[in-house]
Amino acid sequence: MFKQVVYVEEEIQDHPNTQRVLSFFKEAVIVSIRHYKDVFNQSGADWRVQKSAQKLILAKRSDQYYYKGSDITPSFGYRHFYYNTLALNCVYDCSYCYLQGMFTSAHMVLFVNTNDFITATRQLIQQVNEPVYMALSYDTDLLAIEAWYPYCAEWIAFSKTEPLLTIEIRTKSGNIQSLLKQEPHPGVVLAWTLSPDEIIMQHEPLTPSLMVRIRALRKVLDKGWRVRVCLDPVLAVPGWKAYYSGMIRTLATEIQLGQLDSFSVGVFRMNRQFLKNMQGSRSDSPLLFDRYVLENDVYSYTDDLQKEMYGFIRAELETYCQDLKITFT
Ligand code: SF4
Repeated sequence: MFKQVVYVEEEIQDHPNTQRVLSFFKEAVIVSIRHYKDVFNQSGADWRVQKSAQKLILAKRSDQYYYKGSDITPSFGYRHFYYNTLALNCVYDCSYCYLQGMFTSAHMVLFVNTNDFITATRQLIQQVNEPVYMALSYDTDLLAIEAWYPYCAEWIAFSKTEPLLTIEIRTKSGNIQSLLKQEPHPGVVLAWTLSPDEIIMQHEPLTPSLMVRIRALRKVLDKGWRVRVCLDPVLAVPGWKAYYSGMIRTLATEIQLGQLDSFSVGVFRMNRQFLKNMQGSRSDSPLLFDRYVLENDVYSYTDDLQKEMYGFIRAELETYCQDLKITFT
């Protein structure tokens, strides 16, 4: 992946972080570009074709260093809930991923001016002077690319300097080497998204298996990190109850559920326009053509099915531990 071409904005060609990422892709041909959008926003691009030959783009973000959390993401009780976009698009290829509906390009953008993101977040904390929750890059899986550029390590170090800041690093990766080298900090939530293996094989290509993810989270949990398990999206595919029941049993066999910081559970839901775009580029995925209902511009399962799914997941989790903190989206 990315061995052939890496696009680099002219302005950041000599930036030390650019050089750091490029040192990981020594074989790549470097193509200089004016602005990342010249490549990323090209009209007529075929998302699936691009994904099969995904390119890397190194760029500088010049505004919008964070966003207010949307209504369909859980805010975990924080009034000041934000997320940022240190990278766009992902090395994984989940069939339900909203990025396919949000962006016209599958190429991956890394913003190398990380200090600007950190400075803006510091200013935000000073401005609100209350606890701030910052989810790092819902639009990618940063831990999976930590070897290219240590975004997670950098933000963990930053969070240790800001008592009002909690950061969330959400991942499906088993790549925990950099986490094991650092001291745990209560202002960091490591959030693993787990799915049954049957769903991983069918809908989460390129991601690690359930057991790899569980063993990774167990290691960091044992080291003292706060770990959240995200069951999101829960998919009502044929046989879903047996799949999720089996997955929760496996998790409870490997770790004591009470050791976890919390659970976050959400059923499949998708912005109307994103789903339409995804159906256009992934017409072979039956998941995207299920009989969802539209409410407030978001497609999801019927209310009855949602209730059944949430009730089922809660009951399965509470079979193993009664005292769990579970957030339902
Ligand atoms: S891991 Fe997350 S961001 Fe990456 S493809 Fe899957 S759903 Fe999308």
